Amino acid sequence: MDGLSTLPGFGRARMTFGGRPVDAPTTFGVVNPATGIEFTSVPDCSPEQLEECIGTALSGFATWSRRPIAERRHALRRMADILSENADFLATLVTLEQGKPLPASAREIADTAASLRAAAEIELDDEIIQDDDRYRVRVQYRPLGPVAIITPWNYPVFLMGMPLGPALLAGNSVIVKPSPFTPVATLEACRLMSAALPEGVLSAVSGGNDLGSRLTSHPGIRKISFTGSVATGRKVAHAAVSDFKRFTLELGGNDAAILLDDVDLSLVGKGVFWGAFTNCGQICAGIKRLFVPDQLHDAVVDELVARTARVRIGDGMVAGMHLGPINNEPQLRRVAELVDDAIAQGAKVVTGAAGTNGPGYFYPLTILTDCTDDMRIVREEQFGPVLPILRYQSVDEAVTRANATEFGLSGSVWGRDIARAEDVAGRLDCGTAYVNAHLALEPHIPFGGHKASGIGVSNGRWGLAEFTNLTVRQTAR
Ligand code: NAD
Repeated sequence: MDGLSTLPGFGRARMTFGGRPVDAPTTFGVVNPATGIEFTSVPDCSPEQLEECIGTALSGFATWSRRPIAERRHALRRMADILSENADFLATLVTLEQGKPLPASAREIADTAASLRAAAEIELDDEIIQDDDRYRVRVQYRPLGPVAIITPWNYPVFLMGMPLGPALLAGNSVIVKPSPFTPVATLEACRLMSAALPEGVLSAVSGGNDLGSRLTSHPGIRKISFTGSVATGRKVAHAAVSDFKRFTLELGGNDAAILLDDVDLSLVGKGVFWGAFTNCGQICAGIKRLFVPDQLHDAVVDELVARTARVRIGDGMVAGMHLGPINNEPQLRRVAELVDDAIAQGAKVVTGAAGTNGPGYFYPLTILTDCTDDMRIVREEQFGPVLPILRYQSVDEAVTRANATEFGLSGSVWGRDIARAEDVAGRLDCGTAYVNAHLALEPHIPFGGHKASGIGVSNGRWGLAEFTNLTVRQTAR
């Protein structure tokens, strides 16, 4: 289906430099993953244009950082309204470039608006921490300067919106750089939202990975909010350190879910299943390893396979689909390679693993048993619709194995005895440990990874603080 024909009047997305639409001398194509065919193109920001954009962000910062906080809160609410008013348009673009079905794209836009609205309410007031005959001491949270928000392709608009609210509320100007696989909805969302902001405050640029690296090494940028892979996160951190930029890194995950022997099996076909397969597994904080007690192994596998059979995968523009394709060809190849490797190492395919032919980057929901901890599919982040099942004998063993990873984003424990499940969850070495839930992100709950899964947190006053400089005003009496 040619999705662009459903958007009459939409020509091509342009960049936004502080509210001004900008084209580039050259463009690059964006592929619809459901067809494998390029459906539009976007500007390829030149080095000179990036300089111009950063200049715009610097002048935007000079004015925005001095605006009263009430005005900044108002702007965030207005930006959320703009997203809601344009939800159908933006959701269609997300589906065309990312692949997820339209209702899921609509949820992504709604969640982004909710995240901006939540950010508008965050309080992080100055504090007087001493006021006596020696000193009056005030702690202030000051803005940093232009912030670069660099995003991946799995939730392009939401992962832009999550840091955008706090970055702006703190008084910073922002330059957004989306993934080259999914730039379109982000460019359009920023173009539309910039109407709620003074000139210079919000910009969006499109280009390849080199554009990201030019942004992160530019001295005009004072903070990097990066969401993406561990490998790129390392490069971003190196670039930031060279001139002591601040950075927040939201990186990959290899989340373990541990089912206890008293697990409610009806949750396996719902929370556990969707914890693993939401967005076709292309989600940082999804379940990527499932630890199952020996005695429940067959019942759990049966439950998951039965659920798999009811899921419809196809072009996200077609009504009735539960899931879409994998977003891009390199990722499709990687998922297939990890599955082939696991099979060669002795894993058994209970469902899926075949049928990657045809147009589009589709891969079936795949469940693997007889997996071992040393298989790549277990050690590495698959970021696709594949769930390896790992048997365990004792809970201590399951916890040790769950923690034996470089990652530490989230994890979950599932059981009817809540006290016991909470105790086990408390032993998981990760940013968020759930009981009888997974992937339950909400805008007021802090979110961030440990170990290679990241540095820093998003959301709430903790996330807002990451976009500020803690400054002290100390006056002698
Ligand atoms: P990626 O690291 O390849 O790319 C992410 C972004 O970084 C893109 O915009 C890319 O153009 C840019 N980039 C690439 N090289 C760069 C460089 N040298 N300097 C600066 N920017 C550069 O990641 P991806 O493949 O787009 O996304 C998938 C990864 O993102 C997965 O590992 C997933 O777990 C992770 N992710 C993490 C979270 C989280 O919140 N922790 C959320 C979603 C995705």
